[in-house]
Amino acid sequence: MSHVKRFVAGVVCPRCAEMDSTRMYRDDEREHRECVKCGFEDSMRLDGRPEPKELETRVSSDGVDPLKNTPATEPEAQPLQFFVNPNLQKKDH
Ligand SMILES: [Zn+2]
Repeated sequence: MSHVKRFVAGVVCPRCAEMDSTRMYRDDEREHRECVKCGFEDSMRLDGRPEPKELETRVSSDGVDPLKNTPATEPEAQPLQFFVNPNLQKKDH
């Protein structure tokens, strides 16, 4: 499995301030930057989230609001339906 590394024109390395020495590549989750001049490395998540330092943040940030955990599609006043079983009625007679 080889990542495609490409240099990014016009990007200045934040450490050594060298231009066009930073190349980028990405894997499944994040985009990496590395400077071939000074060895600077950085990465950021592709989805823009902060680094998952705590597992709790991942659990609580999946779209579920703990204060509002009622299902969005709440069936309201669904009538109960009693199906008359014709076989049972036959037994009565
Ligand atoms: Zn550098």
